[in-house]
Amino acid sequence: MKLTRKILLHLLLATVATEGIAQRPAGPVTLVHAGRFWDAESGKMLSARDILIRGDRITEVAPSIALPTGATEINARGCSVLPGLIDTHTHILAEQKFGEPLSQSIDRDNTHGGAIGRTFTGIPRARQYLDAGVTTIRDLGNSGQFLDLVLGQAIANGTVIGPRIIGSGPGLAPAGGQFERLPMDPHGLVSGEYRVINGADDARAAVRDAIARGADVIKMYPEASPQRTRLTVAEMQAIVSEAQRHNIPVAAHATFDAAIREAVEAGVSSIEHGYEISDATLKLMAAKGVWLVPTDPSIEMVKEFSMSWKQQPPPGEIAQQLKMFHDRLLRAHKAGVRIALGSDLYFPYAPGRGAGTRGTLEGYVDAGLTPAQALRTATWEAGRLLRDDGLGVLRPGAHADLLAVAGDPSQEIRALRGIRFVMKDGVAVVPFAGCR
Ligand SMILES: [Zn+2]
Repeated sequence: MKLTRKILLHLLLATVATEGIAQRPAGPVTLVHAGRFWDAESGKMLSARDILIRGDRITEVAPSIALPTGATEINARGCSVLPGLIDTHTHILAEQKFGEPLSQSIDRDNTHGGAIGRTFTGIPRARQYLDAGVTTIRDLGNSGQFLDLVLGQAIANGTVIGPRIIGSGPGLAPAGGQFERLPMDPHGLVSGEYRVINGADDARAAVRDAIARGADVIKMYPEASPQRTRLTVAEMQAIVSEAQRHNIPVAAHATFDAAIREAVEAGVSSIEHGYEISDATLKLMAAKGVWLVPTDPSIEMVKEFSMSWKQQPPPGEIAQQLKMFHDRLLRAHKAGVRIALGSDLYFPYAPGRGAGTRGTLEGYVDAGLTPAQALRTATWEAGRLLRDDGLGVLRPGAHADLLAVAGDPSQEIRALRGIRFVMKDGVAVVPFAGCR
């Protein structure tokens, strides 16, 4: 290359760069006066703070900040202000009716709407999350072939209003996926809904494919209950090591102790569900810093669901099930295992998906966590699990995602039901309604 051409090229690049900076809109400026301020890291509700937002980021947090010229002022002095909630286990593109085999729900969605129609089903659900103050969801499969990422992209570019989606694409599963046993699969349901893994090399290829499509987390099924099949330890190790090479966390669906143990030993970031986990495995999780995502509904939610069940379970069965959930959540907490909120709501719930997220938090309090401990699972812990320094916290540099509620949810978790304001990326998505 001749020197002149080189200089010209440099000049051209410099011009493009400068123009890029000059043209980037500064975005709206908002000053929020918070009466109470949730410090997610310490897990404490602090006294009044002002929060300054420029564009899509928080730029300052202090006891008092002067109102910049032209800024919008939100007087939430009567409210508690928290970072937008994070639900780390959702299925925004799946809805299974009670009593219906999963294959039928998926077949119905795929047959009636195809990929486009199925993606559309996520639009109202996305709104429901925002309305409940949930500004980020981690979507873990059952979204066809990467439709969670398609929806996430539409939200990110403003075509659809909804929470930020950290998606996995199809879960990496043993033969059969998570469906009930299907002797016939003429519609290719399994291959349409999961990425079936056959061997360690195939596992590595599947991880790379998901990352190339835009996945920021890998979902894997060490076991795929109610299906009987399991991944091999070599397959799990291959999935985790390939994900680690790309700095992508792995979330493992595992319900019984042997499978949980194998996944933890393989190096996953989180165990989803973990119903039958032993104390020994909890101890290992605590030592390795592996999160538990307890996808447990509240007592009230279960009562609401059961009203739509055709057949009522024998008396005492639900209470016994919930007691088992509560016991393992408390054992995990006492063992020092990190806990992140995940609702796993993939069935009809009239109050909406975001209400299900909130209900799960209420379930953690049913189990015996304090409201403040529960809030921390949806803010600080969830943000760390997602590996984004700007999520789940209100501090300079963080995403401008926040909510305001009347009352103090660190004392009474149900205060989260009274959402008065939600901001995502610096934009008011639920207008401020005051707290008096
Ligand atoms: Zn799930």
